[in-house]
Amino acid sequence: MAGLPGAPGDDWAPYDEDELLALSGIQHLAFCERQWALINIECLWRENVDTTLGEVFHERAHLAGYSVADGVIAERSVPIVSRRLGLIGYSDIVEYTPTDMPNACVRNGVRCSVSPVEYKKGRAKAGDCDRLQVAAQALCLEEMLQTRVEHGFLFYGETRRRERVAVDDGLRRLVLSAARRMHELARSGAIPKPALRPCCARCSLTSECMPEASGRDASDYWRDAGVDWGKA
Ligand code: SF4
Repeated sequence: MAGLPGAPGDDWAPYDEDELLALSGIQHLAFCERQWALINIECLWRENVDTTLGEVFHERAHLAGYSVADGVIAERSVPIVSRRLGLIGYSDIVEYTPTDMPNACVRNGVRCSVSPVEYKKGRAKAGDCDRLQVAAQALCLEEMLQTRVEHGFLFYGETRRRERVAVDDGLRRLVLSAARRMHELARSGAIPKPALRPCCARCSLTSECMPEASGRDASDYWRDAGVDWGKA
């Protein structure tokens, strides 16, 4: 695996088990890093209509087990981890599709390509939040299965559409940066300051955050780093 973008290389130093962070937090960080910090450092979480529907929608995918259709094995609610990223969580579905690729993983004696599938209740959004989560799952699966994951999928409940997500070098770099930033914030215990932005209207933590009383923009770090998460 060394030499693959997003694969363990010379600079790889694994996180310890007690340092692992929730993989699902990567979308919160991309949405707003203050939101990530309030949930993961301050342990605040408020349900709103969106998060409740999201939970209900996810429960359908989180019935563990597997099924086979057209030769594709779909495994549900798969525990995943990356010691390199320091992330742990679940993939809603992992699909194993028969392939001739030489570096494919072997499942039930058959060479298979591997793809994570993430379920979302709504529809595709601008920005990379959802794609980032799928790519993080792909990197976990690469590390666990020692294979290459070329793409994953997002399935949107509102539109019943499935979007293919290419796990390209750009997305891999974003995952690495986001994972590093999560660990940086977790280590420091720092809560980024609030900033009123369009995404605050869709945030479940507005009453705790009070962005209208804001000072510094919470997304300064990413702007300084030249990263645009999109119009979240
Ligand atoms: S209200 Fe706005 S600034 Fe505060 S956590 Fe939510 S998105 Fe971030």
